Amino acid sequence: MLAPLLLLWPISIAATHLVANDIANEPYDQALAESVGAISRLVRVIDGKVTVTLPPSARTILHADEQDELYFQVRNSQGRLLAGDDQLPAPSGDNEPVISEVRFRDEQLAGEPLRVAYKVHEVEAGQRWVVIQVAETRHKREALTSRIISGVLLPQFAIIPLAVVLVWFGLSRGLRPLSRLRERMATRRPGDLSPIEIRRAPEELQPMVHSFNEVMARLEENLQAQQRFIADAAHQMKTPVTGLRMQAELAARETDPVQLRRSVEQIAQAAERAGHLITQLLTLARAESSHEKLHRFESVDLEGLAREATLDWLPAAQAKRIDLGFEGSEWPSAIDGVPLLLGELLKNLLDNAIKYTPAGGRVTVRVVPGEHIVLEVEDDGVGVAEDDRDRIFERFYRVLGTDADGSGLGLAICREIAELHRAAISFLGGSNGRGSRVVVVFPRAGTTHS
Ligand code: ADP
Repeated sequence: MLAPLLLLWPISIAATHLVANDIANEPYDQALAESVGAISRLVRVIDGKVTVTLPPSARTILHADEQDELYFQVRNSQGRLLAGDDQLPAPSGDNEPVISEVRFRDEQLAGEPLRVAYKVHEVEAGQRWVVIQVAETRHKREALTSRIISGVLLPQFAIIPLAVVLVWFGLSRGLRPLSRLRERMATRRPGDLSPIEIRRAPEELQPMVHSFNEVMARLEENLQAQQRFIADAAHQMKTPVTGLRMQAELAARETDPVQLRRSVEQIAQAAERAGHLITQLLTLARAESSHEKLHRFESVDLEGLAREATLDWLPAAQAKRIDLGFEGSEWPSAIDGVPLLLGELLKNLLDNAIKYTPAGGRVTVRVVPGEHIVLEVEDDGVGVAEDDRDRIFERFYRVLGTDADGSGLGLAICREIAELHRAAISFLGGSNGRGSRVVVVFPRAGTTHS
């Protein structure tokens, strides 16, 4: 604030000077105009000649100023001097005589500034006129201008430094809570996500501190979820790895080649399960990095994608004698999505449907375009009890009593991918009272991520 204040000062001085000059001119200009009027009354025509009858006393009065030098001059229309001081220059520019109006101008005479009042005075109507000029040096005016300026500026010498001190004091006092806030933030430990005390923040900053605290709370929640996930994942990884180690130890002691072969096959199966778990964990991590910038959204034909995924699972379905069907529609079913992740979602839903449907069962994949694009995967398998349906989307949650291999991550992955696509996913019972139906409702292309 100091810079603009100091910049304003010279501007204010210049403006004061202009105004003071104007004010100082006004009364003295009036006196000059009156002198012009007085002289004009002394111009007469005597014997056909224009003459100025100026009594000697008047001449003395005109020159009786203590501070300023006064000049007067009367010239006729031919420019001949009728009375007064010859050295006063004639008014320039105005060729058109203006009758009976006193005008003013600034002049220089021998390097000295002059203020001149002049008038074209008509002596005989329409025929003869004279130019009357009265001038004076500017000493009185300058003295008055200086007095006005000093009257205005002197108090400013005291007021401006006082204003600067007050502004400085006010600002530093006002900003002190902000500095305290900054200090508190700067001295925080790196992992400290605790909220800032709103009460101690300046009032203007409270909404900002509030939003900041909300962000911190979300961050804390996220961090805790991640830590839980890592702990769960490590725990889940431990089981197959322990199994692998024990089987390997057993195999190492085995002497019977047939048993040895069986042990090695079991090791291979356990390794495959561990590998599957790791792949699922990676997929979940990829889907979870839900920052939309990390994923390239594009227009995806969901029907085409679902048809392809169904075809991919035909051999697995046939191996279990499951009737795997696809129901599409001729209406467009474009959504905004990430094809790789949508493929992963379909893969997990189809994997579950086939895994939890006994041999001879039926699995149907359906895409129904409408106001929304709905994807359904329905089976007539073992289904999930209503109490468990909410929990099966949790990570590592598996329904007890199923002997199928699995990580408990498939549906958690599906939920992450659905959320990323702003789709709603639900696990329902099959339409004939048997099996299950997973429904994912996607917004149409162009209605999101715009
Ligand atoms: P998993 O790897 O165990 O299949 P998911 O997250 O995919 O993990 O599924 C969680 C649980 O939900 C499964 O253990 C299973 O009990 C149940 N489930 C999922 N899909 C189906 C389905 N189509 N039919 C019956 N149960 C299912």
